[in-house]
Amino acid sequence: MPIFEYHCTNCNQTCELLIRNATVPVCPHCQSEHLTRLLSMPAAPGKSNAIIQRARQQAAREGHFSNYSPGERKKIR
Ligand SMILES: [Zn+2]
Repeated sequence: MPIFEYHCTNCNQTCELLIRNATVPVCPHCQSEHLTRLLSMPAAPGKSNAIIQRARQQAAREGHFSNYSPGERKKIR
């Protein structure tokens, strides 16, 4: 799933959003749809780890573990 950085022209905040197909990006701060996609994405290591963690948690909820190593799968089950 692609992650894009957006700038909200309504409240002047910047945020990273996971965009699914046919999803209209909405500002998490003010719920505005007036978002501008930023092309430069400064991915700080700590932030990327958080994103990977979220993606894994979602995968676990959806019941597939392909992005876990065998050792990690044992801990989850
Ligand atoms: Zn906003």
